[in-house]
Amino acid sequence: MTVDRSIQIRGLVKEYKRGVPVLKGIDLTIAGEGITAIIGPSGTGKSTLIRCINRLVEPTSGEILFQGMDLAKLKGTELRMARRRIGMVFQEFNLVERLTVMENVLTGRLGYMSAFKAWLRKFTPEDIEEAFTLLDAVGLASFANQRADALSGGQRQRVGIARAVMQHPEILLADEPTSSLDPKTSVEIMELMANLAGKRNIPVIVNIHNVALAKRFCQRMIGMTGGKVVFDGTPSQLSDENLKQIYGGENWIE
Ligand code: ADP
Ligand code: MG
Repeated sequence: MTVDRSIQIRGLVKEYKRGVPVLKGIDLTIAGEGITAIIGPSGTGKSTLIRCINRLVEPTSGEILFQGMDLAKLKGTELRMARRRIGMVFQEFNLVERLTVMENVLTGRLGYMSAFKAWLRKFTPEDIEEAFTLLDAVGLASFANQRADALSGGQRQRVGIARAVMQHPEILLADEPTSSLDPKTSVEIMELMANLAGKRNIPVIVNIHNVALAKRFCQRMIGMTGGKVVFDGTPSQLSDENLKQIYGGENWIE
């Protein structure tokens, strides 16, 4: 039996300042498989949208339905339980720089441990074995004992991805995971996410600036502008006309 990992977003509104909505009523169903890209100009609410899903940002109103729960309304223990099942990959990697690569990957398990064991960093042998397997999968096995701050950007992002997968996420959110990386490394990071997510059946939602990269790796594209969804379709359906509507102007379209 396959589990439904789709997300239904209904009437999602976020106001950081009362009366000034940044998300103006988002209605969206995100498939429970493959990679979905969210594209749109800076300041349009892409980060706010994905941060509402894992509640790094509190939605003002609306629903985010996932596996029979409304993520927008969970509190306390229920919120913690839901959150540990949602992996997140960040633009600036968000590693603990003074910890080793291995320790950073293992922090993906902290949400599953008692407060006491987490405080002692008492990871199980199974966790440690899995972390090694994952480091191997992302090509960093020989870096396990290096401090995170000794790595390049691309290597750091690989650690960030391994840490997110270590959570055994049912969904993976990525907020501009390639924006701090050079073009070649960006492709490698997208390949890695596509590969891991595909093998483990983890749906990915990725905010991404690079339209060509999004088209290459994502099965679904969502275009946002001014806090609203203005395009929702496949990469081949995304026309220059749509891009004009999403980003404004036309001189930049090749
Ligand atoms: P994007 O990711 O598309 O660039 P964001 O979601 O980061 O857009 O931001 C959307 C809007 O919300 C912007 O106008 C931004 O200034 C505002 N915003 C984002 N985060 C906050 C915050 N924590 N407090 C107040 N305003 C914010
Ligand atoms: Mg953003």
